[in-house]
Amino acid sequence: MWSGLWLWPLVAVCTANTFREQAERIMQDTPVIDGHNDLPWQLLNMFNNQLLDKRADLNTLTGTHTNIPKLRAGFVGGQFWSAYTPCDTQNKDTVKRTLEQIDVIHRMCQLYPETFMCVTNSSGIRQAFRERKVASLIGVEGGHSIDSSLGVLRTLYHLGMRYMTLTHNCNTPWADNWLVDTEEDNAQSHGLSPFGKLVLKEMNRLGIIVDLAHVSVATMRAVLSQSSAPVIFSHSSAYRICEHRRNVPDDVLQLVNQTGSLVMVNFYNDYVSCKGEANLSQVADHLDHIKKVAGAGAVGFGGDYDGVLRLPAGLEDVSKYPDLVAELLRRNWTETEVRGALANNLLRVFEVVEQVSNHTQNPEEEPINLDKLEGSCRTQYGYSAAPGLHHQWGVLLAALAPLLLSWCLL
Ligand SMILES: [Zn+2]
Repeated sequence: MWSGLWLWPLVAVCTANTFREQAERIMQDTPVIDGHNDLPWQLLNMFNNQLLDKRADLNTLTGTHTNIPKLRAGFVGGQFWSAYTPCDTQNKDTVKRTLEQIDVIHRMCQLYPETFMCVTNSSGIRQAFRERKVASLIGVEGGHSIDSSLGVLRTLYHLGMRYMTLTHNCNTPWADNWLVDTEEDNAQSHGLSPFGKLVLKEMNRLGIIVDLAHVSVATMRAVLSQSSAPVIFSHSSAYRICEHRRNVPDDVLQLVNQTGSLVMVNFYNDYVSCKGEANLSQVADHLDHIKKVAGAGAVGFGGDYDGVLRLPAGLEDVSKYPDLVAELLRRNWTETEVRGALANNLLRVFEVVEQVSNHTQNPEEEPINLDKLEGSCRTQYGYSAAPGLHHQWGVLLAALAPLLLSWCLL
């Protein structure tokens, strides 16, 4: 009896090691595809995108959650790198900033070809897995980056963008952000505006994954009911576990289930525990909950590394994914469920998005109404041309009003 009790701690330690070993064995051939990493933003902040600066060497980079040795230790096999531009660039230099962040991602692949492989489709991800490289994809955060232009949307697609987060922490002229739900911002589009519906159609046609992280619940619902392909939340957690409006409520998780969509869980403490502190086990609680409500096929990882200040104990940087996988195994997740959360669920969504895309179909052409656009430094070329004139009667009449008034007064 005494000797049996004595052995229990030893048994516990051995079991823990077994789960970690099992996690590593699984991740050898199914590495993690993470939904959102802000390393490109760090490269702008720390080095103004000068990647040849010795301190910016990704083999030895310090002070970040992400570098090449940490990616290797974490069995990261796919990463949506975030081409992020803050909301204060909206109506200013947002397109230029977005292009520069896309350039930085391309340059990472060029500078470290033994580690990063820039890919633009699901088969490219599988090829990178086989070559033991990090499949590198571009996610643009958020919708203000297209400056309300379908032409810019298409051009970003041609430059490699494969998801776009419809908003960041600000409304665009065509979709509402999550701050509408905290009443810190006013609802404008109440989901998607008529132009927002065209953006969605064009993303479906091109094969760009729609990302609903950061959007309002009304926008989530509008997209989930109207998109012809499944969508992702690239870095959002479960509202039921932590009642933060950046997280996904249960009724939306039902729609995620019905549409074959995916929630890639964010590790940011404030979204995990609703407090400044959190731990790995609490992140697993979010994964468990999403699995329970939306199914194991709806779960993924979207750590938000290098985009947040506080991370859970046990998940401090990108080397820690195997510990989270070990925790899921300890919680009786099957190997198939774990492989789904790691990569297969994202690959499934991406493949359906690719199947739904149709490049022979005519593109959407109708521009946003001029009166929806702000910005004093904006020119109006094209808007006075004949085909679009019917959109502009209001603007035209407003411009002519003083003249008409002066005639009347004469
Ligand atoms: Zn974000």
